[in-house]
Amino acid sequence: MNELPNWVPSQIDWNQPSVARIYDYALGGAHNFEADRQAQDAALEVFPYLNDAARANRAFLHRALQFCLDQGIRQFLDLGSGIPTVGNVHEVAQKVDPECRVVYVDHDPVAVTHACSMLTSNPRVTILGEDIRAPHNVLEHPDALRLIDFQQPVGLLMVGMLHYVNDAAAPQRLLREYQARMAPGSYLIASHLTSDLPEMRAAAPFFAESRNPMTLRSKAEIEVLLADFDLVDPGVVYTVEWRPDMRPGEHPERTACYAAVG
Ligand code: SAM
Repeated sequence: MNELPNWVPSQIDWNQPSVARIYDYALGGAHNFEADRQAQDAALEVFPYLNDAARANRAFLHRALQFCLDQGIRQFLDLGSGIPTVGNVHEVAQKVDPECRVVYVDHDPVAVTHACSMLTSNPRVTILGEDIRAPHNVLEHPDALRLIDFQQPVGLLMVGMLHYVNDAAAPQRLLREYQARMAPGSYLIASHLTSDLPEMRAAAPFFAESRNPMTLRSKAEIEVLLADFDLVDPGVVYTVEWRPDMRPGEHPERTACYAAVG
């Protein structure tokens, strides 16, 4: 590869699949490499609805974001924000109120570089290239403190993210650390791939070589993970079932992903 597009940061290994770029490919984006496409195509052989599941996750994010905006939330911390795609959090939020502030966090270099290039003219939005498993580095980052007033309610997004936090990284303790910093009236928006669906269990090993192998969890395990949050109705449900704006269809379980807002 001699001519690299300008969104390719120098430090990346494009032979190792990256979940950020795989997800970008699943959503029809162009910021991905052969290794990413091979991993996703192999997984699609055993779970053909994987791309639909990615789109359903994104649609959930938009409905939950709108819910938070309707509750008056005007600042958002988006953990594991991914490679910018259609309908980014700041675009949706600032359409409702141009004063909205958004801090994206992702440790994928392509996500960070691409976000940086599109955010230069937007003073109320930034991206931190941090590992979300180190909450102090995120919550005390000067750019987070510049944009987020932690005395006011925050919308904390962990969408399509928690399954990248394995048990050794203590996901519940991690959630508590973020929760402890949030003012009353804040909201968590979360979605989590599940082990309940055999096809998802069969697909997960195709991502084992990526930087972020998955830890799939059952609905019961996800409910335990979110037990410290007062979940709004309908609680933990498949992404397409969370306050749908159209009939969810016959097979909500094919999204392989549970969603909740608390
Ligand atoms: N939240 C977006 C959405 O739902 O559309 C993107 C989800 S994407 C499937 C998951 C993202 O989490 C990837 O971009 C990946 O790089 C990021 N990620 C995974 N583990 C992370 C970590 N420990 N710290 C920061 N980002 C992480």
